[in-house]
Amino acid sequence: MYRIKGAYSLCIMSPKKLIAARDPHGFRPLALGKLSDDEGYVVASETCAFDSIGATFIRDIEPGEIVVIDENGVESIKTHCGGESSMCVFEFIYFARPDSVIEGASVHKARLRAGRYLAKEHPCEADVVIGCPDSGLDAALGFAQESGIPYGVGFIKNRYIGRTFIQPTQGMRENSVKIKLNVIRETVEGKRVVLVDDSIVRGTTSAKVVKLLRAAGAKEIHMRISAPPFISECYFGTDIDSKENLIANKHSVEKIAEMIGVDSLGFLSTDAVVKIAEGAKCGFCRGCFTGEYPVEVPKEFPKDKFETKFDE
Ligand code: SF4
Repeated sequence: MYRIKGAYSLCIMSPKKLIAARDPHGFRPLALGKLSDDEGYVVASETCAFDSIGATFIRDIEPGEIVVIDENGVESIKTHCGGESSMCVFEFIYFARPDSVIEGASVHKARLRAGRYLAKEHPCEADVVIGCPDSGLDAALGFAQESGIPYGVGFIKNRYIGRTFIQPTQGMRENSVKIKLNVIRETVEGKRVVLVDDSIVRGTTSAKVVKLLRAAGAKEIHMRISAPPFISECYFGTDIDSKENLIANKHSVEKIAEMIGVDSLGFLSTDAVVKIAEGAKCGFCRGCFTGEYPVEVPKEFPKDKFETKFDE
């Protein structure tokens, strides 16, 4: 932990010990739980994992904390604790499951709040609000609640395919969109639609989704994004792509709207994004949205960012 700067949550197991460690900035979540039949402790990156095995959430492991669990119980080592925390705010927007609670804040409620802020920051006249499954759905509901525009189910998602965001090639991402989403025509045909999604990275997936809605007869499409525009890379584990591939790093919001084929486009502001996880007991990283990072980052981005030598 003295040597490695950046984001990690570790779980190390041996036959006699379970050791969990969270980086001193707490970029990623890590939680401690207890099995209900008193059979011992569990750690997980998200609290929703405890629910599925009948364990009870005890507490978040603190940024910089090392927890050692053995036959004597739980020992906590806090020699790396006490600095400023910078939890990845994108966990609340996209990564984490909505049924998880991170640093005391519900992910579901954070996404609802993101949708509410969006409706206030970028209102529009429309007939229906739909979300892009899965992480856009809660934010769409929040947008609908705040704006008074009815919420509708616009897409059905194929459950047997992974996230398009992490498909390695453009060709694979484009094919995935077609297989992944099908429009419910009855929701959008002849309507002015607000489409809520969690992010725009390269813009190609969004353009595909918009095309699907137009083909199903949507009259107007007003896209709202429950995160600010990505203008910079992530050095802390999120595979956001390098700067030159980020559409918002090169084009204005109006130009992006034109490129993806929507009638209007609005992103959540960088001020609002840190307010969505109300009550969270931590600070936030929003480096990919501002270009300002909580720890020093490499001046030149390594070509293969995941294979930089340890002592470089
Ligand atoms: S740069 Fe963005 S994605 Fe990476 S940790 Fe910070 S907020 Fe999360």
